[in-house]
Amino acid sequence: MKSAEKILKQIKNKGFSHLKVELEAQLWRGRCETVRERTPCTVRGCNNGRISCPACRSKGYILLPRVENSATMKSKLDDLPEFATTRRICARCVGEGSILHPTCGGRGYTEKVTGNYGSENFCRDWILEHVSEKARKALSFCKFYYDGSVDSEMTFTLPVEDGKYIVEFIQAFKDLSEATGQGIDVAGAGMHIAVLVDGCGGKYPVTGASLDNGKLNNFANEVAKLLPAMYLLASSGKQSRKLYYREAQISNQKYSAIHVLNGALEFRLFETCYDRPTAVIEFLGVIDKALEFYADPSKKVEKQDVTFPIFEGKTTRRFVRTSDQIRVIRKQFALIKPEGLTIKEIETTRNVKITIAEVKKKESLQVKELKKLFKEHISSFELAVDGPLTRAEEGRLQNLRAQARLTGGHYSDKQLKAMAMGLRVPELDEKKYIENNKPAIVGRISKRLAV
Ligand SMILES: [Zn+2]
Ligand SMILES: [Zn+2]
Repeated sequence: MKSAEKILKQIKNKGFSHLKVELEAQLWRGRCETVRERTPCTVRGCNNGRISCPACRSKGYILLPRVENSATMKSKLDDLPEFATTRRICARCVGEGSILHPTCGGRGYTEKVTGNYGSENFCRDWILEHVSEKARKALSFCKFYYDGSVDSEMTFTLPVEDGKYIVEFIQAFKDLSEATGQGIDVAGAGMHIAVLVDGCGGKYPVTGASLDNGKLNNFANEVAKLLPAMYLLASSGKQSRKLYYREAQISNQKYSAIHVLNGALEFRLFETCYDRPTAVIEFLGVIDKALEFYADPSKKVEKQDVTFPIFEGKTTRRFVRTSDQIRVIRKQFALIKPEGLTIKEIETTRNVKITIAEVKKKESLQVKELKKLFKEHISSFELAVDGPLTRAEEGRLQNLRAQARLTGGHYSDKQLKAMAMGLRVPELDEKKYIENNKPAIVGRISKRLAV
């Protein structure tokens, strides 16, 4: 693939000075304990939290004063064990010779609370400490906060030419999730990357500068036709969220694949890439290709006049399940795929097959299967309407025939007979039957895109 530097330079040349990135994930920071720092006890004489007993000077016993040789005293002493006649166990250290060091509480270290993962500023600082100085210094803005859909979001802005550092921030965000020990959940999380127009000064929302309307129109019209391929490229692995918060449109409505704002284009379609942070360079490559339609308003996408079905599911496979989908995607790659990123690489990273021949083979098997089903469907129908009708059914059939004559309906007499019997009206046309039942075999369709 093209180097990050080249891609970023191209984005900059198209009239954009800054990038704004939003990293999101559920980190369960609320479950985390406070962060404590331990320092070994450095007080002299403290040995793993114990110090020499000051009462017995480490001996563990105290010598008794000399015993008088009186008869009464002697007989009492005779009852005691031998050593007690000369020594007494030290009451302070119970014979141990050492006691707990009061300063460190016997732990051998002192501890203080240095932070709290529940704190947003602490998390922001943690991330900033875990990226390079260059990356840190590149930032124009950085904020870590609790977000509605997930508990952790970090938004930061940096000059386009420093976009390569985004990789470091993604890695640090992932590392933070490991430091908390609570793991990371990206269900429903995305990664939004916005390009901010020249003259914004790195400030977001942009107020002092705006997009060129003519260029914007061309961008919105043309890039919208490339969304199928873009959705596939927007994944870093095989995961691909539903399109609810990234609808297949380019508009000033927030939940669009590309949200048009004052002086900014926010690409909301990208997935998180914590498992493969360098995927963000591919995303920037897609953004650069898309912006070609902004920089050059005469650049057009040839209209393909096909509908692109997007099947339900949570993986990238739903974009390449049929030969029609693959045909569209492959054509769109020519315009939107980052330069140098190979189809092989996309197949490996996104866990998909983008080969028409293979899918075609599968599809012809499906048609064969459907033809068989159609035959069964017809013969069971024939069987069902074969028998004599009851008086009531006969009456209904007469009515239906009369209605059919009046309305010029195109049901066959056999279909009317089925209706009279209260059966579901069967499809008698093989082609239509196959067309209608194909989605059930391929998977349910939730959305279609005209491209
Ligand atoms: Zn100590
Ligand atoms: Zn003692």
